[in-house]
Amino acid sequence: MEAPTIGGVRVRKGNGETVRLARGASLTDFAEKINVDPASLVQMLFSLGEMVTATESVNDETLELLGEELNYIVQVVSPEDEDRELLESFDLEFGSDEGDEGDLVIRPPVVTVMGHVDHGKTKLLDALRNANVVDKEAGGITQHIGAYQVMTDVDGDERRITFIDTPGHEAFTAMRARGAQATDIAILVVAADDGVMPQTVEALNHVKAAGVPIVVAVNKIDKPEADPTKVRGQLTEYGLVPEEYGGDTMFVDVSAKAGLHLDKLLEAVVLTADASLDLRANPTQDAQGLVVEAHLDRGRGPVATVLVQRGTLRVGDSIVAGPAHGRVRAMLDEFGHEIEEADPARPALVLGLSAVPGAGQNFLVVDDDRMARQIAEKREARERAAMQAQRRVRRTLEDFMASMEKGESQELNLILKGDVSGSVEALEDSLAKIDVGDEVSLRVIDRGVGAITETNIMLAAASDAIIIGFNVRPQGKATELADKEGVEIRYYSVIYQAIEEIEAALKGMLKPEFEEATLGQAEIREIFRSSKIGNIAGCMVTSGTLRRNAKVRLIRDGAVIVESADLASLRRERDDVTEVREGFECGLVVKGYNDIKIGDVVEAFEMREIPRA
Ligand code: GDP
Repeated sequence: MEAPTIGGVRVRKGNGETVRLARGASLTDFAEKINVDPASLVQMLFSLGEMVTATESVNDETLELLGEELNYIVQVVSPEDEDRELLESFDLEFGSDEGDEGDLVIRPPVVTVMGHVDHGKTKLLDALRNANVVDKEAGGITQHIGAYQVMTDVDGDERRITFIDTPGHEAFTAMRARGAQATDIAILVVAADDGVMPQTVEALNHVKAAGVPIVVAVNKIDKPEADPTKVRGQLTEYGLVPEEYGGDTMFVDVSAKAGLHLDKLLEAVVLTADASLDLRANPTQDAQGLVVEAHLDRGRGPVATVLVQRGTLRVGDSIVAGPAHGRVRAMLDEFGHEIEEADPARPALVLGLSAVPGAGQNFLVVDDDRMARQIAEKREARERAAMQAQRRVRRTLEDFMASMEKGESQELNLILKGDVSGSVEALEDSLAKIDVGDEVSLRVIDRGVGAITETNIMLAAASDAIIIGFNVRPQGKATELADKEGVEIRYYSVIYQAIEEIEAALKGMLKPEFEEATLGQAEIREIFRSSKIGNIAGCMVTSGTLRRNAKVRLIRDGAVIVESADLASLRRERDDVTEVREGFECGLVVKGYNDIKIGDVVEAFEMREIPRA
C-alpha cells in the first residue's frame, strides 16, 4: 500500500489491526509494534499539535489518537491486566484460592467503618479496639498498624472480626480504584442526634457500588436528643430497610462514648456475614492479600501492614508487595508482639521490604527472593512509566487549539507527602474530584510517604509546585531551602480541610470574570477643533459621572459608533480633572476617534470583577 502523508510525514498505515500498548508506553514502543521509524511518529504528533520525544511516555488519548490516524485500533492495557499478565508469566495468579471446596476454611469478616464527619467513626473504632480485643492479657491495642482484630461471642462460638482502622470512605474508594477490595462488610455510623447527612449518603453510595453489605450503627444514643427511630426512617428512604421493619439491614443502637451495645454491633456483623456472605479461604497455600497501609520507619525501614486474604504468611517468606520485595524479616500484630504467622483476615505489620508499597496494592508470597525481585522490578518500571504519562499535560489536538484560542490555561502543580500511603492516596483521590471548570487544572506531579525532603523542594521549585504535607514535616535543611527557593509548603492533618483550601486556591487562580457597569452619560453640545490634540467635545454630563480612567463608548442616534475607547483628556474649564458629575460641563477628547458630532452621547463604563461563588 502506498504510504500516505500525514502532516507532511510519510507513514505506512495499518489495516485496522489491534495494537496492544501498556499504559504509559512511548512512541518508540508504539513504533516497534507497528514496525515504523519512531521519528516519523514524533513528527506526526508534532503536526497534530503535540511535542513529545520518542522515548517519553504518552497518555492513553494520544496513543489512541495516533492509532486512529494510522488506522490501528490501539488497546491501552490497564495496569490490572498488565499485572495479571506479569504474574501469569511467572505462573502465578492473584485473587482466587487454590484447591477445591475441601481446602476452604471459614475466615473472619473484614470491616470498614464509614459515615458523616463527627458521627463517631473514630470513637467507635477506639471503643471496639479497647473493649473487645482478641488478646485480653496484652492490655489493649497499643500500636496503630492500620487494622486490628476483635473477638466476640456469638451463640457460644468465639468469632473474630477484622477492622480496617482508617475511618471514612476515601481510603475504601482509593483501594477500590486500584481494583482491590479489602472490605467484606461496612458499618455505616449515623449519629442519632444528627441523622442522615451528606457524607452518610456518599458513603452509602460508595458501599452500594461495591456491593458490600451494610450494618448500621446508630451512634450517640446516650445523648438526650438522640432519635434512633428517625434515623431508621431516613435510611429506609435510601433503601436500607431495618430488619424490624421487614427489611434485611441490621440496625444497632450504640454509644461509642458510653460503650453501649458494642457487643450487639459485633454480633450483627457476624450474623450479616453468615447470612449474606460465604467468607472462606484456603489457609494452606502461599499467602496473598492487600497492603492496608505502609510507611518508612526511621529505625526499621519500610514497614507495611498487610491483610492476609488467603494462605498463611510466615516469617522468612519471599514476598512481593506492589513494587516492593523482600523476605519477611519479622511480623508484628496490633499489640506490638512478634508473630510467626498470619492466617486469612489477619492483619500484620511486615518488616523486611525493599520499599514502601501503596495502600491497596497486592502482595504475594513467591518461590524465592529472585522471583520476588524480578516481579517487583517489572512493577516498579511500569509504575514509573505510568506516572510519567500522567505527569504530562493531557493535550489532544482540540485541547491544543482551544488553549491557543483562549490563552494559556492555568495549572496548579502539587506535591503530596503524607505519613502513610493510605492518606496520600485518599488525598490524591479527593483532589482528583475537585471540579472548577476547564480553565484551571490540578496536577499532582509527585507523591510519597515520609518527611518533606530537599529533593521535594527542588522539584517544587523547578515546576512551580506547592507542597502539601499531611501529618508530616520538613526534614533537615528542607525548610531553609523552601524559604530560599520560595516554595510554599502547607500542612494539614484533616483531609477535607486540605481539599477545601486547595479548592479555594484553585478558584483564586481562576481568571477573573468581569461585568460591565455604566458610570454615566454626557451629551456633546459643541465641538472645538485643536490641531494639537484633535477634536475636543464640549459636553454636559446628563447622568452619573464621567471618569478620566474609565472606558467610553460613543452613541449616535441610539447606535454605538465606537464600542470602547479611552479618554485622552477630561477637563473642566482649563483644568485636568479625574471626574465630572451630572449637571456639569466638561471638555473631553476620545482617544483614536476624531469624527465626533454634536448630539453624540459619550457613555462612560468600567469592567468590574465578579467574585467567584
Ligand atoms: P468521626 O469524625 O466520625 O471520626 O467522629 P469522632 O469519632 O471524632 O467523634 C466526633 C465527636 O463525637 C467527638 O467529640 C466524640 O467524642 C463524640 N462522640 C462520638 N461517639 C459518641 C457517642 O456515642 N456519644 C456521645 N455523646 N458523643 C460521641
